[in-house]
Amino acid sequence: MNGRLAVFHEPGKPFEIQERQLPPLKPGAILVKITLSNICGSDLHMWRGDMKIATPGPWVLGHEMVGRVFAVGAGVESDSAGQPLDEGDRVVYSYYLPCMRCYNCLHGHTAACPNRFPSWWLSAGTHPHFNGAYGEYYYLAPGQAVFKIPDELSDDMVAPLNCALSQMVYSLHQVGVKWGDSVVIQGAGGLGVYAAAITKDMGADQVIVIDKFEERLRLASQCGADHLINLDELPSSKERISRVRELTSGWGADVVVEVTGNPQAVAEGIPMVRQGGSYLWVGNINRGKTLEFDPSLLVNANRRVVGVATYESWALQKALDFLKRTKGKYPFDHILSHKFTLDNINAAFDQADRGDVTRAAIAMG
Ligand SMILES: [Zn+2]
Ligand SMILES: [Zn+2]
Repeated sequence: MNGRLAVFHEPGKPFEIQERQLPPLKPGAILVKITLSNICGSDLHMWRGDMKIATPGPWVLGHEMVGRVFAVGAGVESDSAGQPLDEGDRVVYSYYLPCMRCYNCLHGHTAACPNRFPSWWLSAGTHPHFNGAYGEYYYLAPGQAVFKIPDELSDDMVAPLNCALSQMVYSLHQVGVKWGDSVVIQGAGGLGVYAAAITKDMGADQVIVIDKFEERLRLASQCGADHLINLDELPSSKERISRVRELTSGWGADVVVEVTGNPQAVAEGIPMVRQGGSYLWVGNINRGKTLEFDPSLLVNANRRVVGVATYESWALQKALDFLKRTKGKYPFDHILSHKFTLDNINAAFDQADRGDVTRAAIAMG
């Protein structure tokens, strides 16, 4: 039996739809039939070519997705929480696998495992072929965290969970948002909108969100943001920093969250953090982009910077719990703002590249 894949040859070239034979399953592996695959910021960076892929191509990109168990390898009986797992069950899963054989894994810091991407970015020609989200199937390797999705949560709500939502659950936990904190979020894409809702759920007193697109700011406001700063209305960095100070009684925010991917946002964000506060960096994942800034702004002000990429598996389960607990409170079913078919994946990337979408998704049908 065959499945279809969107193969990525190189930046600037369109995806090509190819067919591949479904792979045999190793003991412990699961073949997932994907229902929805999203375009995350890092997929866009690879597509544009501003994030280099280390392995030789062509590749199957995409990592943010949801699907159903199509087939299981020998020995698969339950999900990572011990619930029975059967063919046809809807599942959400981690898109990488910590090696458990390195210094960082040994010390329990699996999100920092340098070997955690054994399959992501593998060439489309390399077994098991279904290595990414832009295809009809995904090969979930033995040991990858997987959770059954509760019936009350729709695929639309869960599709951004294994990257955007879990990323924010884990990183906000790492930076340590506390009850009563004031929080600034730079960027109202998928990550920023989730950050607003999670920080409110964690007990933040006020959440201030900055972006340039009205649509995105509106969704942030529906997801808990108390104050919005539109870049068009306050065009200079200085004005935006003053506005944050004004909203925080002159002190600055306890926590500032960078989810823009733009190094300049960091220069603007540091003075928004109160003395003794924390700055969380999540969006700036591109190597080689630099920024000039005065380190004394951190040292003399006792400001702390926390950089976070990926998450530990528990964050997936907590993210599911969060969606269940807040169901109906926030319009998370509107995070996926644009949907395309696999055949129209090139149009999906063009649209996402224009930036006026919260999340574009490929519906596999
Ligand atoms: Zn992602
Ligand atoms: Zn490791």
